[in-house]
Amino acid sequence: MAPAASQALRHNAEANPTVGTAVTDVQPGTQPTVISAAEHLDCVERPDKPEEACGVFAVLATEQPVANLTYFGLYALQHRGQESAGIAVFEQGTGLAGGPRVRMHKDMGLVSQVFDQEVLERLPGELAIGHNRYSTTGSSKACNAQPVLLNTRLGPFAFAHNGNLVNAAELRQAIAAQIPEVEFTSTTDSELIAFAIQHGVNSGLDWDGAIREAASRCRGAFSLVIGTPEGLFALRDGHGIRPLVFGHMGERSSAQWVVSSETCGLDIIGASYDGDVEPGEIIHFSLGDPEPRRSRWTSEPAKLCVFEMIYFARPDSRFFGESLYSYRVRIGEVLARETPVEADIVIGVPDSGIPAAIGYSQRSGIPFGDGLIKNRYVGRTFIQPTQAMREAGIRVKLNPLPDVLAGKRVVVIDDSIVRGTTSRKLVAAIRDAGATEVHMRISSPPVTHPCFYGIDTDTQDQLIAARLTLEEIAAHLGVDSLAYLSKQGMVEAAQAQASQFCTACFDGAYPIVMDEAVSSSKLMLEPSGIAAAVRA
Ligand code: SF4
Repeated sequence: MAPAASQALRHNAEANPTVGTAVTDVQPGTQPTVISAAEHLDCVERPDKPEEACGVFAVLATEQPVANLTYFGLYALQHRGQESAGIAVFEQGTGLAGGPRVRMHKDMGLVSQVFDQEVLERLPGELAIGHNRYSTTGSSKACNAQPVLLNTRLGPFAFAHNGNLVNAAELRQAIAAQIPEVEFTSTTDSELIAFAIQHGVNSGLDWDGAIREAASRCRGAFSLVIGTPEGLFALRDGHGIRPLVFGHMGERSSAQWVVSSETCGLDIIGASYDGDVEPGEIIHFSLGDPEPRRSRWTSEPAKLCVFEMIYFARPDSRFFGESLYSYRVRIGEVLARETPVEADIVIGVPDSGIPAAIGYSQRSGIPFGDGLIKNRYVGRTFIQPTQAMREAGIRVKLNPLPDVLAGKRVVVIDDSIVRGTTSRKLVAAIRDAGATEVHMRISSPPVTHPCFYGIDTDTQDQLIAARLTLEEIAAHLGVDSLAYLSKQGMVEAAQAQASQFCTACFDGAYPIVMDEAVSSSKLMLEPSGIAAAVRA
């Protein structure tokens, strides 16, 4: 590119408005028109569970309502992020110089709150990039909503990211040095990857080359979908820590492609599952091309987050050829074998504890019952219960059934314990409902280390299993007995190679080397309690 043109092309984030609806053309320096904007909304209370980072979804298809399809894909992936949602749509041939026009709408809130039919009708085109966000790097603010939309010398691109970088500070410094005029509009690591791609393109690389180069500058977890004037790119980090799958709609020869964080996103729009975007793979889907171009951009050992299997991903999503429901039932069977107890009823903490409770019941012969009813008709609330409500227990979300629990020795199956605050209230509520004994069984090993790869697990000093012994945790929760699934049992139930998984939050074996500043930000304790036992 000629220097003058290069200078004229501003590297700042002008095409990446915070929230609302934006329209951008190919023309370098185009200011998007922001039609509406929302207030910043900060998350008010941290839940007592690991929180999933994000969901990504993309559709490339002609003569299809790609925005509507993406809406439903994001709707299916709502569990992966409830703080903001966004869709960017490319319409070919309607922008300047015959390039694509990109329209984007994003805002704080659930998918069903951010979009309505009127908004979706204003997003015509052939390529849609969608994103649901839960904050990991960068707080829960409107400016951090995705997709990120930037211009380059080759036209605009829209970018959505699931995961978390562990070298974000270093990358930010490098980008600021490389692009002196850069204006960061968010506090997320995702924007940094987008700027790295933009820089690569503006330095003369093509899309494929710029995306590969940007990926090679990143360390951490990243599953990406990227919309460009040349089609859709999907990419996973070398370890494949976060999932990403692809499939097609209609006949495969019609080349109508869909990329989703999980297979449940394919199912909801009737798309067939073709396969995973493999760890270290980049796939380029082009309009009308019946064969996506697949290649590796790096080669490293696969390390899928095992917590996706245990808890994060939807039970109807398929991993390793089966639904996670089946895996979680098997986990319950292993848990029953490893940690038997005499009891009258097995209950699960809805929703993710239910399949493991069914498995525990099947293996132990103890009847399964619905002892806890979850309010399924609400999304995440940003309104805090009053202090009096808090003291009254956790019944905003879960309500025990005295008819089922009274006079019974109860085994309660939950998928994990993080801080223990919710579990403690839950145990008290079950006792209040008349249970004579409460035995807690956890369908994962103790969480002793924080996650740096896109899951929000608190700092180590807040993880109860990093601070207390098993007996101390049992006493703190007020249970008659407590036992966790072993790491070996967790892997055995997966019927896959142990080495295929990241299990770092259970054993501290982080697959990606981190800067000292990153690791010390969450690793605050010397090993103690269960953490010491896990390491021993
Ligand atoms: Fe998943 Fe835990 Fe590894 Fe994070 S540290 S990627 S939550 S297994």
